Amino acid sequence: MHWADVIAERLLERGGHHKIASGTSISGQPHIGSAADVIFADIIARAVIDKGGEAEVIWIKDDMDPLRSVPRQIPPEFEEHLGKPVCDLPDIEGEPYVDHFVKPFLEGLNKVGVHPVQVSGSEIYLGGQAVDLVRMALEKAPEVRIILEEVSGSKRPDDWLPFQAVCENCGRIATTKAYATDDEGRVLYRCEGGVAGKRRIEGCGHEGVAELDQGKLTWRLDWAARWKLLGITCEPFGKDHAAAGGSWDTASVIIERIFDYPKPIPLEYEHFMVEGGKMSKSKGNIVTLAEMLETVPPEVVRYVLARTDPMKHKDFDWAKIPQLMEEFERVERIYYGREEPAPREDPGDMRRLYELSLVSMPPMKSLVQVPYGHLLTLVQLYPDHDHLIAALRRTGELPEEDPEGHLERIRSKANNARAWIRDFAPEAMRFSVFDELSRETRDMLSVEQRTYLSALAKALETVAWDGESVQDVVFNLSKEVGLKPRDAFGAIYISILGRQRGPRAGFFLASMDREWVVARFREAGTGSNSTGTN
Ligand SMILES: [Zn+2]
Repeated sequence: MHWADVIAERLLERGGHHKIASGTSISGQPHIGSAADVIFADIIARAVIDKGGEAEVIWIKDDMDPLRSVPRQIPPEFEEHLGKPVCDLPDIEGEPYVDHFVKPFLEGLNKVGVHPVQVSGSEIYLGGQAVDLVRMALEKAPEVRIILEEVSGSKRPDDWLPFQAVCENCGRIATTKAYATDDEGRVLYRCEGGVAGKRRIEGCGHEGVAELDQGKLTWRLDWAARWKLLGITCEPFGKDHAAAGGSWDTASVIIERIFDYPKPIPLEYEHFMVEGGKMSKSKGNIVTLAEMLETVPPEVVRYVLARTDPMKHKDFDWAKIPQLMEEFERVERIYYGREEPAPREDPGDMRRLYELSLVSMPPMKSLVQVPYGHLLTLVQLYPDHDHLIAALRRTGELPEEDPEGHLERIRSKANNARAWIRDFAPEAMRFSVFDELSRETRDMLSVEQRTYLSALAKALETVAWDGESVQDVVFNLSKEVGLKPRDAFGAIYISILGRQRGPRAGFFLASMDREWVVARFREAGTGSNSTGTN
């Protein structure tokens, strides 16, 4: 059974309606790992709904978090705002700081079929929704300190309180220390400095009194408080939170003992790696969802997350996108009954994996699949998309009738392939067709190769113009004239691309205009000049 179905069944044993939470810190541009968190939540919600339950994805933007460092795209003047809640930062390029990062992030999520209910930390705390929970946590502060010590082994001073006030003088949240409550239950704090990210930030020295809607609970209590406030029943999170004595262990005790509410069902996952390494700003290997969507279709982003157990290693490698696409396309063909699964593969599991990868349900009735591998060739042959579509119609890969919008999907996939060729293709995979056959190029051909090309030109005049048929002719003819296949294929690539290697010949040739191909081979074979001048 798919891992999401396993969780869905556990959830449905607890009740019929579910809220699956995810959360993102917004101090800078959220990367693909943050997107994965929300997509995991969506895959679980989809599984609950498919089993007859109700489920929604709740996405919490942590905009009460302090600015920990100034992101690369942000003016360095923002240094002076370090330690302030990100919801209070000045606008960027005419829009609120948080929106500047949230908008593209949500656009990407929408493209992969994720439409979460949005909640923000500032709404919860500054909007007063969490006041009762904050009061509860403050009243039970001695027990909170005991739990923190028992579960995570960290001993807090006797005056420690689980609250971070926003300093009314300097506006920072990372610098305040709450040390007591007054008779009215308000929080007394000192702005004495603190740590945000890896940096020490000086406080302004102010001593103040905060109402309970002028700050937030400290992280582990904050996490538990949201579960209760929002009625969360399940939450995926990265394995760093799941370490023994870590935030999950602590928050799941706090939710029961301090807030008297059942803990959600957790889904622990392994973090996304990029090209074998952890993403980090210093390594400069941060990948965003928007960047990933430039080179792969949205369903493949979901597929990457749905295909294996979330705790398994997940590595994203730009160089391996063609293999990833091939793998997904195979699952797609199995789903539509075009290909048999391998004996060790469960057909039901593969169908389920495909469904959970889809951006929307139900799937299309018919499959029109133009493999990414083909598109990598086609986009180089046809920079103009209309010409590319015309070529696909010529080879019969694209039907004239298109009631299900396949054309639009292929357009989008071709754009993905174009972006991959432009940004990531190794030199060996890039090519451009010579408009004209030069004397130097012709001189690269042996006498035997020229003879072969002349014969090939003749044979191609009448063969069925599709990849398989052309491939057969190319191959069989090389045997007939006694030319090694390597030399035969070499002759083809030299006369069209000016080099020894190229894409799979049959499909490559069939993707071009027959008249043009025949004329080019005739010219290369005999030396007569008909596709251009030199
Ligand atoms: Zn201050």
